[in-house]
Amino acid sequence: MRSRGRNLLLSLVLLCLVSFMLLGLMGRSKSGATTQQQPASPPPASDWIRIAIPEGGSIFSVLEANSVPLGEIALFAFNFGNYVDVTTIQPGDSLLLKLDPESKSIRKAVFFQEPPTRHVFVPSGDSLNYSLEQLPVQVSERLVQGQLSGTLDASLLAAGLSPCEKQAVNNGLETKVNFARNAKDGDSFCVLIRERFFNGSKLGGGVIRYVCYDGAAAGKHELFRFEVQDEKSVSSGLYSSDGKSLNTAGVGYPLASIHVVSAFGRRIDPIYRSWRMHQGVDYRARYGTPVYSVANGKVVSARYSGGWGNEIRIRHNNGLVTQYAHLSSMSVRAGQSVRKGQVIGRVGSTGKSTGAHLHFGLVQGKSYINPNKLKMVGTEQLNSEQMAAFQQQMAEIKRKLASLGAA
Ligand SMILES: [Zn+2]
Repeated sequence: MRSRGRNLLLSLVLLCLVSFMLLGLMGRSKSGATTQQQPASPPPASDWIRIAIPEGGSIFSVLEANSVPLGEIALFAFNFGNYVDVTTIQPGDSLLLKLDPESKSIRKAVFFQEPPTRHVFVPSGDSLNYSLEQLPVQVSERLVQGQLSGTLDASLLAAGLSPCEKQAVNNGLETKVNFARNAKDGDSFCVLIRERFFNGSKLGGGVIRYVCYDGAAAGKHELFRFEVQDEKSVSSGLYSSDGKSLNTAGVGYPLASIHVVSAFGRRIDPIYRSWRMHQGVDYRARYGTPVYSVANGKVVSARYSGGWGNEIRIRHNNGLVTQYAHLSSMSVRAGQSVRKGQVIGRVGSTGKSTGAHLHFGLVQGKSYINPNKLKMVGTEQLNSEQMAAFQQQMAEIKRKLASLGAA
């Protein structure tokens, strides 16, 4: 138990701590930062340091390796997660830094999420100005058609799909086709993929818009992508033509749209200057946003729990427990049964938290495990309004297929 006054003091002291949640990348390496000179434009070139995020490293570790003052790292970090999805940062991504030669404070920082996407940060007093420079990319759609010979995976990779893109096809199809039993050589498949290019190179994250599979034993199946304007929405994905999600086997998402500001893993604790685990995932959301149970289960506890603030824990049939923290309100009680998708509370900022967000944790036995281990899916069945939009999107996809000469 803590008094309110102490709570407040702690909150203030922990203001910085939460900043570093935004740096929650997996690694702890501090030594892997490499620096090299930037080509001579604009002069003076030597002002810039280009840093590749090392394997197992983080934005924080590379700033620290370049002696940036801690207070400025905190400022940088606090804003960083608002603009960059920290879960998508890969080793090798580039950070370009211009530092003051004496104080090593940041004059300008540019993070390249992918070559054409440049996040520009300029510190100004105790705030950080942000701008996004998005260079134009070429978007094109491609139809991949083939006959199964060996595995579908090999065929898709040979056609130039990335492992992620291939996985998206598999995740959709595996709910329709039992590959182990029914896939036969000679089965036909097709994939419509939307790809982006920059300076002639393909960028990651192609979008699968359509998948078909036609097999002697497997039967004929079609999957269409439904797309929602809000790019953080979890409803976008592959559906059968009747509007059923093709990933119903997974658990749901705790929110209707997902914006990760801190991933699971090690992050620096600025008070003790040591590495600590972030035992879950932080999703940014507006105060009062509904929070859903990700699967059927029974409420273990729903109470105020120290740093977690208002916290709900739900035990599911497989024994895993999901945790939902910092809620503004809770609408379930301990012992109550809940369904997947049921509203259990609202997003808030109770406990050790500096702003509205949902901390989502996954507990196995006595240990916290990475919630990414869950295979989460969005909407299972489109509602009538979504269905109308989906019909139009399907018609557009069919026109596209015809224009690309789909068999
Ligand atoms: Zn958290």
